[in-house]
Amino acid sequence: MAYDMVIKGAKAVTPDGVKEVDIAVQNGIIAEVGSVIETSGAEIIQADGKYVFPGAIDCHVHFNEPGREDWEGIETGSQMMAAGGCTTYFDMPLNCIPSTVTAEHLHAKAELGRQKSAVDFALWGGLVPGHIEDIRPMAEAGAIGFKAFLSRSGTDEFRSVDERTLLKGMAEIAATGKILALHAESDALTSYLQMVLANEGKVDADAYAASRPEEAEAEAVYRTIQYARVTGCPVHFVHISTAKAVRLIREAKQEGLDVSVETCPHYVLFSHDDLREKGSVAKCAPPLRPRESQEALIEALIAGHIDMVSSDHSPCRPSLKREDNLFLSWGGISGGQFTLLGMLELALEHQIPFETIAEWTAAAPARRFGLQKKGRLEEGCDADFVLVSMEPYTVTRESMFAKHKLSLYEGHTFPSRISATYSKGRCVYSDGKKAKEGIDGTLVVPS
Ligand SMILES: [Zn+2]
Repeated sequence: MAYDMVIKGAKAVTPDGVKEVDIAVQNGIIAEVGSVIETSGAEIIQADGKYVFPGAIDCHVHFNEPGREDWEGIETGSQMMAAGGCTTYFDMPLNCIPSTVTAEHLHAKAELGRQKSAVDFALWGGLVPGHIEDIRPMAEAGAIGFKAFLSRSGTDEFRSVDERTLLKGMAEIAATGKILALHAESDALTSYLQMVLANEGKVDADAYAASRPEEAEAEAVYRTIQYARVTGCPVHFVHISTAKAVRLIREAKQEGLDVSVETCPHYVLFSHDDLREKGSVAKCAPPLRPRESQEALIEALIAGHIDMVSSDHSPCRPSLKREDNLFLSWGGISGGQFTLLGMLELALEHQIPFETIAEWTAAAPARRFGLQKKGRLEEGCDADFVLVSMEPYTVTRESMFAKHKLSLYEGHTFPSRISATYSKGRCVYSDGKKAKEGIDGTLVVPS
Protein backbone atom coordinates (compact mmCIF):
# COMPACT_ATOMS: atom_id res chain seq x y z
CA MET A 1 0.00 0.00 0.00
CA ALA A 2 1.10 3.56 -0.64
CA TYR A 3 0.77 5.72 2.45
CA ASP A 4 1.74 9.32 3.19
CA MET A 5 3.57 8.44 6.39
CA VAL A 6 4.42 5.43 8.53
CA ILE A 7 5.51 5.51 12.18
CA LYS A 8 7.82 2.54 12.69
CA GLY A 9 8.82 0.79 15.88
CA ALA A 10 6.32 2.53 18.10
CA LYS A 11 4.97 1.38 21.43
CA ALA A 12 1.43 2.40 20.58
CA VAL A 13 -0.95 3.03 23.46
CA THR A 14 -4.18 1.57 22.08
CA PRO A 15 -7.46 0.99 23.96
CA ASP A 16 -6.43 -2.70 24.29
CA GLY A 17 -3.01 -1.98 25.74
CA VAL A 18 0.49 -1.06 24.61
CA LYS A 19 1.45 -2.76 21.33
CA GLU A 20 4.67 -2.71 19.31
CA VAL A 21 3.25 -1.78 15.94
CA ASP A 22 3.66 0.43 12.88
CA ILE A 23 1.07 3.13 12.25
CA ALA A 24 0.30 4.25 8.69
CA VAL A 25 -1.30 7.60 7.84
CA GLN A 26 -3.05 8.64 4.67
CA ASN A 27 -4.84 11.94 4.07
CA GLY A 28 -4.62 12.82 7.75
CA ILE A 29 -6.34 9.61 8.87
CA ILE A 30 -4.90 6.52 10.57
CA ALA A 31 -5.08 4.08 7.65
CA GLU A 32 -3.53 0.99 9.23
CA VAL A 33 -2.19 -0.21 12.57
CA GLY A 34 -0.17 -3.38 12.03
CA SER A 35 2.85 -5.35 13.19
CA VAL A 36 5.00 -4.55 10.14
CA ILE A 37 3.64 -2.23 7.47
CA GLU A 38 5.37 -2.47 4.07
CA THR A 39 5.18 0.70 2.06
CA SER A 40 6.96 2.60 -0.67
CA GLY A 41 7.34 6.33 -1.04
CA ALA A 42 5.95 7.16 2.41
CA GLU A 43 7.67 9.43 4.91
CA ILE A 44 9.09 7.11 7.58
CA ILE A 45 9.18 8.27 11.20
CA GLN A 46 11.37 6.04 13.35
CA ALA A 47 9.77 6.03 16.79
CA ASP A 48 12.73 4.06 18.20
CA GLY A 49 10.83 2.62 21.11
CA LYS A 50 9.09 5.84 22.04
CA TYR A 51 5.52 5.58 23.25
CA VAL A 52 2.84 6.84 20.91
CA PHE A 53 -0.26 8.18 22.64
CA PRO A 54 -3.43 9.42 20.99
CA GLY A 55 -3.31 13.23 20.87
CA ALA A 56 -4.73 14.52 24.14
CA ILE A 57 -8.13 16.23 24.19
CA ASP A 58 -8.19 19.02 26.75
CA CYS A 59 -11.82 19.90 27.29
CA HIS A 60 -11.10 22.90 29.51
CA VAL A 61 -8.83 25.83 28.60
CA HIS A 62 -9.12 29.63 28.70
CA PHE A 63 -7.31 31.34 25.82
CA ASN A 64 -9.06 34.67 26.45
CA GLU A 65 -9.25 35.74 22.82
CA PRO A 66 -10.80 38.00 21.62
CA GLY A 67 -10.36 40.82 24.10
CA ARG A 68 -7.72 39.60 26.53
CA GLU A 69 -4.92 38.46 24.26
CA ASP A 70 -2.53 40.07 26.75
CA TRP A 71 -3.39 37.12 29.05
CA GLU A 72 -2.89 34.30 26.52
CA GLY A 73 -4.32 34.13 22.97
CA ILE A 74 -5.14 31.40 20.46
CA GLU A 75 -1.74 31.42 18.76
CA THR A 76 0.39 30.96 21.88
CA GLY A 77 -2.22 28.82 23.62
CA SER A 78 -2.63 26.37 20.75
CA GLN A 79 1.14 26.07 20.29
CA MET A 80 1.36 25.32 24.00
CA MET A 81 -1.24 22.58 23.50
CA ALA A 82 0.84 21.07 20.68
CA ALA A 83 3.98 21.23 22.85
CA GLY A 84 2.10 19.35 25.57
CA GLY A 85 0.85 16.57 23.29
CA CYS A 86 -2.68 17.94 22.98
CA THR A 87 -4.29 17.96 19.53
CA THR A 88 -7.80 19.15 20.41
CA TYR A 89 -8.78 21.71 23.03
CA PHE A 90 -12.15 23.10 24.12
CA ASP A 91 -12.02 26.84 24.77
CA MET A 92 -14.18 28.21 27.56
CA PRO A 93 -16.66 31.04 26.90
CA LEU A 94 -15.29 33.41 29.51
CA ASN A 95 -12.32 35.70 30.15
CA CYS A 96 -12.54 36.67 26.48
CA ILE A 97 -14.40 39.90 25.64
CA PRO A 98 -17.15 39.52 24.63
CA SER A 99 -17.97 36.30 26.47
CA THR A 100 -19.15 33.58 24.06
CA VAL A 101 -22.86 33.87 24.82
CA THR A 102 -24.37 34.31 21.34
CA ALA A 103 -24.07 32.38 18.05
CA GLU A 104 -22.48 35.46 16.50
CA HIS A 105 -19.71 35.47 19.13
CA LEU A 106 -19.23 31.74 18.63
CA HIS A 107 -18.87 32.13 14.85
CA ALA A 108 -16.38 34.98 15.33
CA LYS A 109 -14.27 32.92 17.73
CA ALA A 110 -14.34 29.91 15.39
CA GLU A 111 -13.04 32.13 12.60
CA LEU A 112 -10.18 33.39 14.81
CA GLY A 113 -9.35 29.76 15.59
CA ARG A 114 -9.26 28.83 11.92
CA GLN A 115 -6.80 31.66 11.31
CA LYS A 116 -4.58 31.11 14.31
CA SER A 117 -4.89 27.68 15.93
CA ALA A 118 -2.10 25.12 15.56
CA VAL A 119 -4.46 22.26 16.40
CA ASP A 120 -8.18 21.44 16.32
CA PHE A 121 -10.54 23.04 18.81
CA ALA A 122 -14.11 23.06 20.05
CA LEU A 123 -15.93 25.97 21.65
CA TRP A 124 -18.06 26.14 24.78
CA GLY A 125 -20.98 28.54 24.87
CA GLY A 126 -21.93 30.32 28.08
CA LEU A 127 -25.08 29.91 30.17
CA VAL A 128 -25.49 33.32 31.81
CA PRO A 129 -28.49 35.41 32.90
CA GLY A 130 -30.24 37.07 29.93
CA HIS A 131 -28.97 34.64 27.26
CA ILE A 132 -31.16 31.55 27.55
CA GLU A 133 -32.63 32.26 24.11
CA ASP A 134 -29.11 32.11 22.67
CA ILE A 135 -28.59 28.48 23.73
CA ARG A 136 -30.28 26.89 20.74
CA PRO A 137 -28.58 29.13 18.12
CA MET A 138 -25.20 28.43 19.76
CA ALA A 139 -25.93 24.69 19.78
CA GLU A 140 -26.75 24.89 16.08
CA ALA A 141 -23.57 26.91 15.47
CA GLY A 142 -21.55 23.98 16.84
CA ALA A 143 -21.07 24.67 20.57
CA ILE A 144 -19.66 21.58 22.27
CA GLY A 145 -21.77 22.38 25.35
CA PHE A 146 -22.52 25.21 27.78
CA LYS A 147 -20.61 26.47 30.80
CA ALA A 148 -22.14 28.01 33.90
CA PHE A 149 -20.82 29.22 37.24
CA LEU A 150 -22.63 28.84 40.54
CA SER A 151 -20.13 31.16 42.22
CA ARG A 152 -18.45 34.27 40.83
CA SER A 153 -16.44 33.63 37.66
CA GLY A 154 -13.57 36.01 38.42
CA THR A 155 -14.45 38.51 35.68
CA ASP A 156 -17.33 40.99 35.58
CA GLU A 157 -18.33 40.13 32.00
CA PHE A 158 -19.36 36.55 32.73
CA ARG A 159 -22.09 36.44 35.37
CA SER A 160 -22.82 33.43 37.52
CA VAL A 161 -26.30 31.90 37.22
CA ASP A 162 -29.17 32.53 39.59
CA GLU A 163 -31.24 29.44 40.37
CA ARG A 164 -33.98 30.33 37.88
CA THR A 165 -31.48 30.85 35.04
CA LEU A 166 -29.76 27.59 35.92
CA LEU A 167 -33.01 25.59 35.86
CA LYS A 168 -34.35 27.21 32.69
CA GLY A 169 -30.94 26.90 31.07
CA MET A 170 -30.64 23.23 32.01
CA ALA A 171 -34.05 22.50 30.51
CA GLU A 172 -33.05 24.32 27.31
CA ILE A 173 -29.65 22.57 27.10
CA ALA A 174 -31.38 19.21 27.60
CA ALA A 175 -33.71 20.06 24.70
CA THR A 176 -30.72 20.67 22.41
CA GLY A 177 -29.05 17.38 23.41
CA LYS A 178 -25.94 19.19 24.69
CA ILE A 179 -24.10 19.08 28.01
CA LEU A 180 -23.88 21.62 30.82
CA ALA A 181 -20.35 22.13 32.18
CA LEU A 182 -20.58 23.38 35.71
CA HIS A 183 -18.17 25.20 37.98
CA ALA A 184 -19.48 23.74 41.20
CA GLU A 185 -18.83 25.87 44.26
CA SER A 186 -21.57 27.36 46.43
CA ASP A 187 -21.68 31.13 46.12
CA ALA A 188 -23.50 31.45 49.45
CA LEU A 189 -20.73 29.62 51.30
CA THR A 190 -17.72 31.06 49.48
CA SER A 191 -18.81 34.71 49.55
CA TYR A 192 -19.94 34.51 53.17
CA LEU A 193 -16.68 32.93 54.32
CA GLN A 194 -14.59 35.36 52.28
CA MET A 195 -16.40 38.28 53.93
CA VAL A 196 -15.85 36.89 57.44
CA LEU A 197 -12.14 36.24 56.82
CA ALA A 198 -11.51 39.57 55.10
CA ASN A 199 -13.20 41.39 58.01
CA GLU A 200 -10.72 39.69 60.31
CA GLY A 201 -7.90 40.91 58.04
CA LYS A 202 -7.01 37.36 56.96
CA VAL A 203 -5.92 37.32 53.30
CA ASP A 204 -3.17 34.68 53.13
CA ALA A 205 -3.08 31.16 51.65
CA ASP A 206 -4.78 29.55 54.66
CA ALA A 207 -7.56 32.14 54.61
CA TYR A 208 -8.14 31.73 50.87
CA ALA A 209 -8.37 27.94 51.21
CA ALA A 210 -10.67 28.28 54.24
CA SER A 211 -13.02 30.49 52.20
CA ARG A 212 -13.61 27.71 49.66
CA PRO A 213 -14.03 24.54 51.77
CA GLU A 214 -14.82 21.08 50.43
CA GLU A 215 -18.41 21.60 51.57
CA ALA A 216 -18.82 24.41 49.02
CA GLU A 217 -18.01 21.97 46.21
CA ALA A 218 -20.10 19.13 47.65
CA GLU A 219 -23.14 21.38 48.17
CA ALA A 220 -23.03 22.70 44.60
CA VAL A 221 -22.59 19.21 43.15
CA TYR A 222 -25.43 17.81 45.26
CA ARG A 223 -27.81 20.63 44.30
CA THR A 224 -27.00 20.38 40.61
CA ILE A 225 -27.57 16.62 40.62
CA GLN A 226 -31.09 17.27 41.94
CA TYR A 227 -31.61 19.81 39.14
CA ALA A 228 -30.26 17.31 36.58
CA ARG A 229 -32.81 14.77 37.77
CA VAL A 230 -35.65 17.30 37.40
CA THR A 231 -34.59 18.83 34.07
CA GLY A 232 -32.96 15.79 32.40
CA CYS A 233 -29.92 17.92 31.55
CA PRO A 234 -26.61 16.05 31.03
CA VAL A 235 -23.98 17.59 33.32
CA HIS A 236 -20.19 17.59 33.19
CA PHE A 237 -18.62 18.69 36.48
CA VAL A 238 -15.42 20.59 35.75
CA HIS A 239 -12.24 20.69 37.87
CA ILE A 240 -13.58 18.60 40.74
CA SER A 241 -11.11 18.71 43.60
CA THR A 242 -12.43 16.36 46.28
CA ALA A 243 -13.26 12.67 46.62
CA LYS A 244 -16.43 13.75 48.46
CA ALA A 245 -17.83 15.39 45.31
CA VAL A 246 -16.68 12.45 43.15
CA ARG A 247 -18.69 10.12 45.41
CA LEU A 248 -21.88 12.15 44.90
CA ILE A 249 -21.35 12.14 41.12
CA ARG A 250 -20.69 8.41 41.13
CA GLU A 251 -23.92 7.76 43.02
CA ALA A 252 -25.81 9.87 40.47
CA LYS A 253 -24.22 7.86 37.65
CA GLN A 254 -25.20 4.59 39.30
CA GLU A 255 -28.74 5.91 39.49
CA GLY A 256 -28.62 6.38 35.71
CA LEU A 257 -28.18 10.16 35.47
CA ASP A 258 -26.13 11.44 32.54
CA VAL A 259 -23.25 13.03 34.49
CA SER A 260 -19.48 13.04 34.09
CA VAL A 261 -16.55 14.49 35.99
CA GLU A 262 -13.10 15.84 35.29
CA THR A 263 -10.25 16.70 37.61
CA CYS A 264 -7.06 18.59 36.79
CA PRO A 265 -3.40 17.61 37.13
CA HIS A 266 -2.80 20.33 39.73
CA TYR A 267 -5.26 18.72 42.17
CA VAL A 268 -3.44 15.40 42.03
CA LEU A 269 0.18 16.62 41.74
CA PHE A 270 0.04 19.50 44.23
CA SER A 271 -1.52 20.35 47.58
CA HIS A 272 -2.30 23.30 49.85
CA ASP A 273 1.35 23.16 50.98
CA ASP A 274 2.28 24.38 47.49
CA LEU A 275 -0.09 27.35 47.79
CA ARG A 276 1.58 28.21 51.08
CA GLU A 277 5.07 27.87 49.61
CA LYS A 278 4.67 29.24 46.09
CA GLY A 279 1.89 31.77 46.62
CA SER A 280 -0.34 33.10 43.88
CA VAL A 281 0.96 30.91 41.00
CA ALA A 282 -0.77 28.09 42.88
CA LYS A 283 -4.05 29.95 43.40
CA CYS A 284 -7.06 28.38 41.69
CA ALA A 285 -10.74 27.82 42.42
CA PRO A 286 -11.53 25.41 43.94
CA PRO A 287 -8.22 25.71 45.82
CA LEU A 288 -5.49 23.07 46.05
CA ARG A 289 -6.50 20.77 48.89
CA PRO A 290 -4.68 19.43 51.97
CA ARG A 291 -2.55 16.34 51.39
CA GLU A 292 -5.04 13.83 52.77
CA SER A 293 -7.72 15.18 50.41
CA GLN A 294 -5.25 15.08 47.53
CA GLU A 295 -4.55 11.43 48.29
CA ALA A 296 -8.25 10.58 48.45
CA LEU A 297 -8.75 12.25 45.06
CA ILE A 298 -5.88 10.22 43.56
CA GLU A 299 -7.49 7.05 44.95
CA ALA A 300 -10.81 7.99 43.34
CA LEU A 301 -9.09 8.63 40.03
CA ILE A 302 -7.22 5.33 40.09
CA ALA A 303 -10.43 3.52 41.07
CA GLY A 304 -11.99 4.75 37.82
CA HIS A 305 -14.49 7.11 39.46
CA ILE A 306 -13.30 10.19 37.53
CA ASP A 307 -13.91 10.20 33.78
CA MET A 308 -11.20 12.48 32.47
CA VAL A 309 -8.44 14.96 33.19
CA SER A 310 -8.23 18.50 31.79
CA SER A 311 -5.81 21.35 32.41
CA ASP A 312 -8.17 24.28 33.20
CA HIS A 313 -5.33 26.40 31.80
CA SER A 314 -6.29 29.83 33.10
CA PRO A 315 -3.42 32.31 32.85
CA CYS A 316 -3.33 36.08 33.32
CA ARG A 317 -0.99 39.04 33.04
CA PRO A 318 1.79 38.54 35.63
CA SER A 319 0.83 41.77 37.43
CA LEU A 320 -2.56 40.22 38.34
CA LYS A 321 -0.87 37.54 40.43
CA ARG A 322 -0.58 39.40 43.75
CA GLU A 323 1.18 38.13 46.84
CA ASP A 324 -0.04 40.79 49.29
CA ASN A 325 -3.64 39.60 49.25
CA LEU A 326 -4.55 36.22 47.81
CA PHE A 327 -8.25 37.11 47.60
CA LEU A 328 -7.39 39.92 45.16
CA SER A 329 -4.92 37.84 43.10
CA TRP A 330 -6.10 36.25 39.84
CA GLY A 331 -7.17 32.66 40.45
CA GLY A 332 -6.07 30.32 37.70
CA ILE A 333 -3.21 27.95 37.00
CA SER A 334 -1.14 28.18 33.85
CA GLY A 335 -0.55 24.53 33.07
CA GLY A 336 -2.00 23.66 29.66
CA GLN A 337 1.30 22.19 28.51
CA PHE A 338 1.56 19.63 31.26
CA THR A 339 -1.59 17.49 31.42
CA LEU A 340 -0.26 14.40 29.65
CA LEU A 341 3.15 14.65 31.35
CA GLY A 342 1.48 15.11 34.73
CA MET A 343 -0.68 12.04 34.24
CA LEU A 344 2.36 10.02 33.14
CA GLU A 345 4.10 11.08 36.33
CA LEU A 346 1.12 9.75 38.29
CA ALA A 347 1.11 6.56 36.20
CA LEU A 348 4.74 5.77 37.01
CA GLU A 349 4.27 6.54 40.70
CA HIS A 350 1.15 4.38 41.05
CA GLN A 351 1.69 1.69 38.35
CA ILE A 352 -1.30 2.90 36.33
CA PRO A 353 -1.42 1.27 32.85
CA PHE A 354 -0.66 3.73 30.04
CA GLU A 355 -3.92 2.87 28.29
CA THR A 356 -5.72 4.26 31.35
CA ILE A 357 -3.81 7.54 30.86
CA ALA A 358 -4.90 7.55 27.19
CA GLU A 359 -8.47 6.95 28.36
CA TRP A 360 -8.43 9.95 30.78
CA THR A 361 -6.66 12.32 28.41
CA ALA A 362 -8.14 11.36 25.03
CA ALA A 363 -10.67 8.53 24.63
CA ALA A 364 -13.04 9.58 27.43
CA PRO A 365 -13.43 13.24 26.39
CA ALA A 366 -13.87 12.17 22.74
CA ARG A 367 -16.64 9.76 23.73
CA ARG A 368 -18.34 12.09 26.18
CA PHE A 369 -18.47 15.00 23.74
CA GLY A 370 -19.27 13.02 20.59
CA LEU A 371 -15.98 13.38 18.69
CA GLN A 372 -16.18 10.07 16.85
CA LYS A 373 -12.90 10.38 14.94
CA LYS A 374 -10.76 11.55 17.86
CA GLY A 375 -9.10 10.10 20.93
CA ARG A 376 -7.96 6.63 19.81
CA LEU A 377 -5.10 5.09 17.85
CA GLU A 378 -7.38 3.11 15.59
CA GLU A 379 -7.92 2.79 11.88
CA GLY A 380 -10.30 5.44 10.59
CA CYS A 381 -9.54 7.96 13.36
CA ASP A 382 -7.81 11.29 12.75
CA ALA A 383 -4.02 10.86 12.76
CA ASP A 384 -3.63 12.86 15.99
CA PHE A 385 -0.82 11.41 18.05
CA VAL A 386 2.09 12.18 20.34
CA LEU A 387 5.53 10.62 20.62
CA VAL A 388 6.63 10.46 24.24
CA SER A 389 10.14 9.59 25.37
CA MET A 390 10.83 8.33 28.86
CA GLU A 391 13.53 10.85 29.71
CA PRO A 392 13.10 13.34 32.53
CA TYR A 393 12.20 16.94 31.70
CA THR A 394 12.49 19.88 34.06
CA VAL A 395 10.18 22.79 33.23
CA THR A 396 12.07 25.99 32.46
CA ARG A 397 10.73 29.36 31.32
CA GLU A 398 12.46 28.78 27.96
CA SER A 399 10.57 25.53 27.37
CA MET A 400 7.14 26.94 28.29
CA PHE A 401 4.95 27.89 25.33
CA ALA A 402 2.30 29.85 27.25
CA LYS A 403 2.39 33.61 26.61
CA HIS A 404 3.51 34.34 30.18
CA LYS A 405 6.10 32.16 31.86
CA LEU A 406 4.57 32.35 35.30
CA SER A 407 3.50 28.85 36.27
CA LEU A 408 3.15 26.56 39.22
CA TYR A 409 5.03 24.02 37.08
CA GLU A 410 8.25 26.05 36.73
CA GLY A 411 11.09 23.92 38.12
CA HIS A 412 8.94 20.78 38.26
CA THR A 413 10.59 17.63 36.89
CA PHE A 414 8.45 15.18 34.93
CA PRO A 415 9.74 11.64 34.30
CA SER A 416 8.92 11.87 30.57
CA ARG A 417 8.87 14.45 27.81
CA ILE A 418 6.89 15.18 24.66
CA SER A 419 9.09 14.40 21.68
CA ALA A 420 6.71 15.27 18.82
CA THR A 421 3.03 15.98 18.21
CA TYR A 422 1.07 15.27 15.02
CA SER A 423 -2.29 16.80 14.17
CA LYS A 424 -4.12 14.99 11.34
CA GLY A 425 -0.80 13.56 10.19
CA ARG A 426 1.07 16.87 10.23
CA CYS A 427 3.87 17.57 12.67
CA VAL A 428 2.85 20.55 14.83
CA TYR A 429 5.62 20.25 17.44
CA SER A 430 8.98 18.55 17.52
CA ASP A 431 11.86 18.54 20.04
CA GLY A 432 11.18 21.84 21.72
CA LYS A 433 10.12 23.70 18.59
CA LYS A 434 6.82 24.51 16.97
CA ALA A 435 6.44 23.30 13.41
CA LYS A 436 7.19 25.78 10.62
CA GLU A 437 3.71 25.98 9.17
CA GLY A 438 1.85 25.98 12.43
CA ILE A 439 -1.80 26.48 11.49
CA ASP A 440 -3.88 23.34 11.31
CA GLY A 441 -6.89 24.08 13.46
CA THR A 442 -10.49 23.50 12.54
CA LEU A 443 -13.58 23.69 14.68
CA VAL A 444 -14.66 20.22 15.69
CA VAL A 445 -18.32 19.61 16.42
CA PRO A 446 -20.07 16.65 18.04
CA SER A 447 -21.49 14.10 15.66
ZN1 LIG B 1 -11.82 27.10 33.97
